Parts: sequence; structure tokens; C-alpha cells
Amino acid sequence: MNNSVPANEPLSPPPSPADFGFTVEHRLENDGEHGSDGRPLGRTGTIRTPHGEIQTPAFIPVGTKATVKSLLPATVRELGGQAVLSNAYHLFLQPGSDIVDEAGGLGKFMNWDGPTFTDSGGFQVMSLGVGFKKVISMTENMHESDAVIAKNKERLAHVDEDGVTFKSFINGDRHRFTPEISMQIQHQLGADIMFAFDELTTLMNTRRYQEDSVDRTARWAVRCLDEHARQTEERTHRPYQALFGVVQGAQYEDLRRKAASGLATMTGADAEGQMFDGFGIGGAIEKSQLGEICGWVTDELPENKPRHLLGISEPDDLFAAVAAGADTFDCVAPSRQARGGTMYSSRGRINAKAATQRRNFGPIDDNCDCYTCENYTGAYLHHLFKAKEMVSSTLATIHNERFIVRLVDQIRESMIDGTFAEFRDETLGRLYPKKSKQD
Ligand SMILES: [Zn+2]
Repeated sequence: MNNSVPANEPLSPPPSPADFGFTVEHRLENDGEHGSDGRPLGRTGTIRTPHGEIQTPAFIPVGTKATVKSLLPATVRELGGQAVLSNAYHLFLQPGSDIVDEAGGLGKFMNWDGPTFTDSGGFQVMSLGVGFKKVISMTENMHESDAVIAKNKERLAHVDEDGVTFKSFINGDRHRFTPEISMQIQHQLGADIMFAFDELTTLMNTRRYQEDSVDRTARWAVRCLDEHARQTEERTHRPYQALFGVVQGAQYEDLRRKAASGLATMTGADAEGQMFDGFGIGGAIEKSQLGEICGWVTDELPENKPRHLLGISEPDDLFAAVAAGADTFDCVAPSRQARGGTMYSSRGRINAKAATQRRNFGPIDDNCDCYTCENYTGAYLHHLFKAKEMVSSTLATIHNERFIVRLVDQIRESMIDGTFAEFRDETLGRLYPKKSKQD
């Protein structure tokens, strides 16, 4: 694939889309979801970036503000993290994307030498604007109405055809994000994988609003491709940055399929040769529909480009999404929950602060191979949390991130050796015993 580089290649060749690639390795032939033409949707593969490879499926730890909270980059690497995902919106507000650019880009700035992702800022702009933080946990029994998120003075964000105006949650300053500005910021941040600027809707929006939003997101995607091409051409001192288009469309099959097939063949209006290097699957998704919605989307997408499902890390969701053809995932939940004392285990969640841990002189999870479980007891973690010691966050985050990274690595292995269904049933039966009994 990349064996044609001539020996006299200059030391710093200009950035080229060829510096990014994805290869499918194994397909989930007998288990998982199948596309409308019968082909299996689930697969393993390798994403190639200028800063190294990512073996997929893979869970990508989140370092919102250019740090995985409480962990050093060396620790993220040690626990098996293959890449880090940061947040364009947060880094734009603080320290400023110009600072990260001058520092040599996100990876250099934070001392992480592996692949990096930045999301577009669309999610944060919108979710902070409408006051929701966890889209995935929205339920359909909330009243469906655009009025809930309609224009009013309390809102932090307002959408129009050209972009989004919002107030900084840090100091109340007014800012404006457009597709062009998002691309300029993400080029300054310099991550290997960036996401197009999209509008995030909620499950409460009306069908009519979702239709308008999908169309608007498509128009924004074309503008992102054009600006991405301009930035790539100008910034020849930096390695190629891949751009993923983001598929929205909420819970509607026709909208999801239309959005995905549109992005799959989309080019810039000016930059007619510029296409998306991969795809993000975003937006409001009811948990029970996650696999189904992923399947509609991946069925429409080209097989030779990677798909990133934004914002999930719950084990049952990971199995469903992998089986439906998603390749990479990110979520703040493992580290956020760790800092609150909620630790994952092979038998479900454990509260490190619970009295049951006070005299647990064994590890939090006997089956975990992380640094925390190999060296510390549940009793010690319980003590650290009770005493509000800082290292409680570090030790708990190492464990939770390792738990999810390893789970997805094991899913990958099970796909390669043909034991995906057995591994899924055994794992989910252990993690959700009540649910399995009901089924
Ligand atoms: Zn552990």
C-alpha cells in the first residue's frame, strides 16, 4: 500500500491524504450485523496516521483539555491507550489554539507522541447551549418539542445558517463558530484526526427540525472540506491531518442513511478532489437503538474508511457498536466516574467509598491487569477516597481506562479468533446479571 515511496523523497514532504489510511483485516462473518447486500458490517483493522497506527476496534481515552485528567501520557500509553482525543472547543477557549500551534501541535504540547484526535467543538457548543451534557442518556419520554431548545435569553448558543454564536462558559465572552473557523482551529491544534463541524440535535427536536439540521450539517460539511483543503495547502510544515465527516439524523433511518450516503461521496465545492478520510457517528441515540442506528450508517459508508462513534464507553454499547461496524470510540465516562470513586470490575461497578471496601485487602478486581490492581488494595483506595487524597483519582482512572481499553482490545481479539459471540455473551452476562436473567 505504501511501498512506493522513492529513496530520494525530501525530508519534509508536503502533507498528503496518502499519509493517512485504513485497512480492514478481519470481518465478523458469522456474528453481528450485516448490511443490506449481506456483507458483514463488523470488522477489525488498522488506522495509519503520521504519528503511528491504531489497531481497531479501539477505545480512545479522552484528554479534553490536552490531558487525560490525573494521568501522565506515559501512563496512558502503559495502560494500552493507542491515541488521545481532545476537545477543540475547550482548547480554543483555553489556552487558545494559537498557543497549541506555536507549541508544535497538540501531541507535542502535551508530550504525547502517538496519534491524536480533536472533535469539532460542535458537541460542546450545542450541549452547553441547550444545557445537556450527556446526549446518550436522553430518553424518548422527554417531551418532544423544539421549544425546549428554542431561542431565549438563557441559552448559551444560537444556530443560524452560517454557524453558531455562543457564550464562553468560562467568562461569558461571545464567540462564533463556523465550519471555516472550526477547521482553522483544528488545523492549529494539529491532531491527526479532526471532525467536521456539525449541528448536534437532541431527541426532543421535532422530525422537521432534524430534517433541516441534517441538510444544514451537509452544507457545513462541504464548507469544512473546502477550508480543510485550503489549510492543508497552506500549512505544508505540518503532517497531513485527516478529516472525518459527522453523520447525524437522530433516530430516523431515512435521515441517517441520507446523511451517511451524502457524506460518503461528498467533495468540497472548490476543492473537488477533497473527500472525507473517515466518518464520525454522532448525535442523539437512544441506547436500545444504538446497534441498529450504527448499522444503518455503516451500511451506507465505504468499507475502506474508518468510523468513529462519538461518546460511548458502556460495555453493552461497545459490543453492539462493534458488531454494527464502528471502529473507534471515545468517552469521558471512565475517567469522570473514576474521580467520583466508581470503579469498573468484571462483575459490574464497585463504589470505592463503600463500607464493603474498607477491609478489602485484595485488588478492586481480581481479573484486572492494571497497575492499580497489581499494586494496591481496595482498602487503600477506600482510604484515599475517604481522605480526599489526589492520588485516588490517578489510581482509579488508571483502572477504569485500562478496563475499557482492554475490553475493546479483547473484543478485537475475539473477532480475529472467531469467538466474538461467546465472548460477548460471557462478558455481558457477568456485567449485567439481572438484565440477562430477564431476557
Ligand atoms: Zn485494575
